[in-house]
Amino acid sequence: MIVAAHRQTRPWTGEEVQPKTATLPAYDPACYLCPGNARVGGARNEPYTRTFVFDNDHPCVGAAAPAPPPPPHPFFRNSPAHGLARVVCFSPRHDLTLAEMPVEDIAGVVSLWQQQTHDMGRHPGVKYVHAFENKGEVVGVSNPHPHGQLYATNFVFKTIEVELDASVRHLRGTGRGLVEDAIAAEESDGRRMLYADQHTVAFVPYFARYAYEVYVVPRRRVPHIAALNAEEAMSLARALKDVLVRFDNLWQMSFPYVQVLHQAPTDGSDVSAFHSFIAFHPPLRRPNLLKYLAGPEVGGGIFLSDTLPEDKAAELRALSTVHYKAVGS
Ligand SMILES: [Zn+2]
Repeated sequence: MIVAAHRQTRPWTGEEVQPKTATLPAYDPACYLCPGNARVGGARNEPYTRTFVFDNDHPCVGAAAPAPPPPPHPFFRNSPAHGLARVVCFSPRHDLTLAEMPVEDIAGVVSLWQQQTHDMGRHPGVKYVHAFENKGEVVGVSNPHPHGQLYATNFVFKTIEVELDASVRHLRGTGRGLVEDAIAAEESDGRRMLYADQHTVAFVPYFARYAYEVYVVPRRRVPHIAALNAEEAMSLARALKDVLVRFDNLWQMSFPYVQVLHQAPTDGSDVSAFHSFIAFHPPLRRPNLLKYLAGPEVGGGIFLSDTLPEDKAAELRALSTVHYKAVGS
């Protein structure tokens, strides 16, 4: 991670991202995620009224995945990727993103993540459940209907392995939780904090790779969010709402991001050192300017950041927690 905030205003003559401002309908008859509509595979969505989960019709991991051909050379190895892939519709409303949903409905999404983590994690052969949301055309999402995805796989994702390993080493070395120490350090400094209540905190981490990267973290160390109690889950929903509204208010546009729920493996190993949290990775540095992953990031594994996390946190902190579309309505 290299911070080079002094380069922020370097000239840019490349392509800019033009956010779409067209207003969406509450229901789109052509949308394969809207209630009651037919999907590509022929299945029909339930006429759902809150959240809706279904098995992905084109899963990247699935029970029907073909066995890989044998490696062409003994140097190479492969193994079949099995598991489950599901799609989560956050709301029946085609035009209502998480940021605009009432806190109670965001809590419904949190509850669904909890339930699905529990259910999919118990599935035979599943070692890990990955919940995420890609939001916005700039991160490659073609259907604007607010939705996320769940992958349950027969292997553990690399980032989770690294985080679990670091958490175990930190706990052994200090007797304290890694993320608990990060929360304490962020709260003690204060300059990158966005939200704090009894159960949840949100901040731009000191080591943020993206300009507006934000972590939303339950205070209690639970390896899977399924273990959060109702009060903690509601607090998580409130923190998400707070952060998401600030994101949208930043440039008065639907803010694109990749959201990832970090959770421990479900393979039965000791994961008590792992502390579950939610990370937002927004790709925009300015309203029309993408953070491109280039030489250092793609080839070197090092992120180059043109901004200071303290400045970005201050920008987000200064914004209203009332969604701009709701102002005056
Ligand atoms: Zn829709």
